[in-house]
Amino acid sequence: MASPVNPGFCSKVLYETWQSELLVTQFLRGHGAFRSFMYRIGKTTVDLCGSCQVQNTSEHAMFECRRSDSRRKVAEDTLSIKISTSSCVEIMLRDEESWAVIEELISSRMKMRRRKKEI
Ligand SMILES: [Zn+2]
Repeated sequence: MASPVNPGFCSKVLYETWQSELLVTQFLRGHGAFRSFMYRIGKTTVDLCGSCQVQNTSEHAMFECRRSDSRRKVAEDTLSIKISTSSCVEIMLRDEESWAVIEELISSRMKMRRRKKEI
């Protein structure tokens, strides 16, 4: 009997969902690939953003860094609200669309940081 769904597709969807949730959790805890965290645990000798030369915290990487401007603007325009570290959880809890927009902002930015080795 043939499977009604493609197992490879399901695995990919589950992996991408898991990865997005992991990245959002890392961001919210500040324990992701942020120089300030990597510096704190002894994995780098510099905790500054390579672009802005300020401490590269999760808040800086997501809501202050010029490298996040375009993605953040898309999210803010979509939700018609300014997004910050202090407001992002409250915004996420409003409804599914808000959750999805913030999750996309965080996970896409985190993935881009990995690809460009910004840490
Ligand atoms: Zn920066």
